[in-house]
Amino acid sequence: MIRQNLHTHSVWDDGTNTLEEMAQAGISAGLTSLGFSIHTPMPFPSCWTLEEGRLPEYSAAVRKWKDAFAGRIALYHGAEWDLLSEMPLDGFDYVIGSIHHIQAPGRGSCVDNSPEMTAQYLRDLFGGDSDAAAEAYFSQYEALAGMEKVDIVGHFDLPTKFDETNHFYSPDSPRFCAAALRAMDALVSADKIFEINTGAISRGYRTTPYPSRSLLKELKRRGGRITVSADAHAASDVAFGFAEAEALAIDCGFAEIWQFDGRGFVSVPIGGGG
Ligand SMILES: [Zn+2]
Ligand SMILES: [Zn+2]
Repeated sequence: MIRQNLHTHSVWDDGTNTLEEMAQAGISAGLTSLGFSIHTPMPFPSCWTLEEGRLPEYSAAVRKWKDAFAGRIALYHGAEWDLLSEMPLDGFDYVIGSIHHIQAPGRGSCVDNSPEMTAQYLRDLFGGDSDAAAEAYFSQYEALAGMEKVDIVGHFDLPTKFDETNHFYSPDSPRFCAAALRAMDALVSADKIFEINTGAISRGYRTTPYPSRSLLKELKRRGGRITVSADAHAASDVAFGFAEAEALAIDCGFAEIWQFDGRGFVSVPIGGGG
């Protein structure tokens, strides 16, 4: 059983519960450790990130609950850092690197919003060429490989969030695959850990986690490392779908996941191995 989730949000960003409620929910769900991964501020107004200038106050709140819950659940001070965020990454226990905006020359769009916005940015930014959008998106993940402080690759194929039926994207197309695998190669070479993220399932957008099964198999073939996270925005989702994510990982050939132990990432066997 997986007993750690490093990807959670709270009322400090776009989550619905307090840090205390998330920690309590972690204990109830059988977790032994929980990481708060605050959305770092973007260089433009955004309603889903930590407010600019509130990091010291937020960090103090995490420290307070870390102490208060000591001995019951280990709490970590992590960040979900966006490639566009300009906030320095000093002082965090670990960092999830995520890309929520797709960039076209001179313009960009959120990829995390709705099916309607997906249709809109594909039309307006890429002339309806979803392979071009995939190339633009995954090239941003390639850039993330060079970010030394990033430990974990967040929701690698996020543009497919509203697209489980492949209405917008063609994940089997040669250009989509080449773009995704080029980024994956760069990230694996940089020793980044990919998360299997169940957050879109708990919120009703998908029935399977990111990354897709085919991308996970490619990751395994390349010797890539994984972790499992819930991307929980509510206390009820703090360990959502972990048994299914573990089964998927095993099915794709993985025998271990990587977890944070307070100092670094360590290998933990899954599927009763070890
Ligand atoms: Zn995210
Ligand atoms: Zn998140």
